[in-house]
Amino acid sequence: MLAPMAFSRREQSLSQSIGALIAQHLWAKILLGMVLGTLTGLVLSPGGLALLENDTVLMAAEWIALPGVIFLEMLKMVVIPLIICSIALGILTSGSPHQLKRMGAFIVPYFIITSFVAVGIGLAITLIIQPGHTVGTSIDTLAAAMTADGGIKTFDDLTVPQRIVNLIPSNFVEAAMQTDMLKVVIGAIFLGVAALTIPREIAKPFEDLCLFGQVAAMKIISWAMALAPYAVFGLMVDAMVRLGFDILTAIGWYMGCVLLGLVIILGLYLFGAAVFGHRPPFEFLRAIRDVQLLAFSTSSSAAVMPLSIRAAEENLGVSEDISRFVIPVGTTINMDGTGLYQAVAAVFLCQIFKVDLSFTEMILLLCTTVGASIGTPATPGVGIAVLATILSGIGVPPAGIGIIFGVDRILDMCRTTINVTGDLTAVVIMDKWMKKNFA
Ligand code: ASP
Repeated sequence: MLAPMAFSRREQSLSQSIGALIAQHLWAKILLGMVLGTLTGLVLSPGGLALLENDTVLMAAEWIALPGVIFLEMLKMVVIPLIICSIALGILTSGSPHQLKRMGAFIVPYFIITSFVAVGIGLAITLIIQPGHTVGTSIDTLAAAMTADGGIKTFDDLTVPQRIVNLIPSNFVEAAMQTDMLKVVIGAIFLGVAALTIPREIAKPFEDLCLFGQVAAMKIISWAMALAPYAVFGLMVDAMVRLGFDILTAIGWYMGCVLLGLVIILGLYLFGAAVFGHRPPFEFLRAIRDVQLLAFSTSSSAAVMPLSIRAAEENLGVSEDISRFVIPVGTTINMDGTGLYQAVAAVFLCQIFKVDLSFTEMILLLCTTVGASIGTPATPGVGIAVLATILSGIGVPPAGIGIIFGVDRILDMCRTTINVTGDLTAVVIMDKWMKKNFA
């Protein structure tokens, strides 16, 4: 059974942070920041009106981008503890070890496979359409300026068995320090499962610590978010001044790639729900449309979770013990929309910054992005913060995020809708499978 107390405390604290963000109409301010940043870039850029000397403009751009750089550093500061706490807490509150074994044996591989498919679709679309190659101007100055903090790192040259061994975090602290997402996610899963299988009173302090970590990290993110409109403005001016106007076309292509990928995933869900869950597409969509609308407007799978559970039970007739296990676990680890978006964004920025990834590096990017999407908490705008850690692993300056940040809210709304649709698809498939095998 669920652990209702822990679950509701966690939900309450999360929804407070989410509610505050939504109430401030932050997304509208961020969009305004993007528009003003674009216009200012137009006035200052050497390719635009060029009102000032080139050197003066570059120096001014660095200052204007300062809130953006501070904003990114604040996000990076909390993302690792946030991921560890979210995963461990997600497993801990998912039920009993028995339930984890019986249902987890089906649903966890299902979630992992669908995540790989989603990320694979994202990589394929971006490699075929190449949205980042629509930028013609030299980006050397930008890359040099943006990498000043960390330098370019690429994946290590390891053999496949070495890479497999390398997945186990022999030193968890070191993995966290190096922002090695896959190791961090795997370590957090070990911790969560261990805490679930030991006596409850011993695990309790750990659960409280994770709850504190998650809520405190969300609080710091909400402070950073107050800077977001200025951050977007400054980073946009900086990008326009250094990259020129092609960047706007590239952003349009990038958004197109993300949206195309999300539509393909939706098609696959409808197919899966029809074939394996015996729900005709229109009937399925009608049953879940309220959940989708709420996900679209709040950009938070966590906020929508209670409604998802209700829709699964009342509209789709899924049994309680299945919906109350699958939806919370799915909300935590099943983020196909986010995974696809992170893959598109990572490859798009690689194309912009002319980082060439070999085939092995692409496979590693696939695994890292799946791990990162699993670790992304189900709250607004966090997908992009987690993306920053993926980027530093593949040699793209995390500040490159400034380029895509302005349009992130609208993409967040769309990917969250797909994330919750994925959970509801999983629940109908699981329901059929359980009834067939265990009824
Ligand atoms: N907003 C997404 C969700 O809650 C997570 C993200 O991609 O930022 O599902």
